[in-house]
Amino acid sequence: MTFAIQVEHLQKHYGEHLAVKGISFKVEQGSLFAFLGANGAGKSTTIEILCTLLQKSSGTVTINGYTLDEKSMNGEIRKSIGVVFQQSLLDERLTVRENIIHRGKTYGLSRAQLAENYRFVSTYLHLEDIEQQKYGTLSGGQKRRADIARALIHRPKILFLDEPTTGLDPQTRQFVWQTIKQLQEETNMTVFLTTHYMEEAAVAHQVIVLKQGRIVAEGTPDFLKTQYAYDQMALVFHDRSMGLKWLKDNTLHFTENQGIFSVRLDSTMHALSLLKSAEPFLASFEVIKGSMDDVFLHIMAQGDAI
Ligand code: ATP
Repeated sequence: MTFAIQVEHLQKHYGEHLAVKGISFKVEQGSLFAFLGANGAGKSTTIEILCTLLQKSSGTVTINGYTLDEKSMNGEIRKSIGVVFQQSLLDERLTVRENIIHRGKTYGLSRAQLAENYRFVSTYLHLEDIEQQKYGTLSGGQKRRADIARALIHRPKILFLDEPTTGLDPQTRQFVWQTIKQLQEETNMTVFLTTHYMEEAAVAHQVIVLKQGRIVAEGTPDFLKTQYAYDQMALVFHDRSMGLKWLKDNTLHFTENQGIFSVRLDSTMHALSLLKSAEPFLASFEVIKGSMDDVFLHIMAQGDAI
């Protein structure tokens, strides 16, 4: 297994405040990696350190085989990564194309290479309709497409995205998200992102949850769901007293809200046998799968550092 990112005992102090408290993790090359945490958990601080924009206090970071802060390595790291931050770095007065080409030139790409890379990013991000427009006149979603294109013009091995879909309307969010996923799948690029949208984290290969500068959970979305979320069944009885008796007889943990009973399940399949026995007095039911939202809320409520 090849790792695109390796972080060991990373710490970051802001004066007296320890914002990142000795975290360690690895990101497999070509994977989609989601870095989660509530506001102030230390996500942006970590991402800025990995992107060479912020000095770490201690620990070791290796990006694409280059060790951060070692002689002339930070320049190599910068050449091998692309970064999209919440705040755009494009010039409002230049067109989208000018912005991207200008960026490509700073990497010293040949004319032919630059033209080829531009074609690549333009196709992926559907720039045809906006490439001659001044960046400052674009909508939020169009700006995001241009931001990602700029980050990709030198064809980096890793793309860092800090909340790439925040503030976008649902349709644009879906487009941006699909593009990111497609890039990762088709070009084997490693994608490292922070997000507050749990449905995005749910399709990541690996997830880390940060809380107050510490890693409090990590694993695949499926693993995290089995650890921190559970399936539920919503039931409506046409005979309430029979329903209550049945719940008691089966020693089921439940809550009731306006005649809808929510029952915690050991597993999705557990629903089958339960439903069979409740059939005579059951009016309707729904099985609700545990989600990444449940995982996040559960961890935020009680997660202790691992
Ligand atoms: P968000 O989801 O809101 O972007 P985050 O997880 O990215 O949050 P960081 O921005 O990394 O969190 O902040 C981590 C902690 O470090 C917070 O307590 C924050 O107040 C503090 N912090 C961040 N930048 C600085 C700074 N320049 N000086 C002092 N403290 C800082």
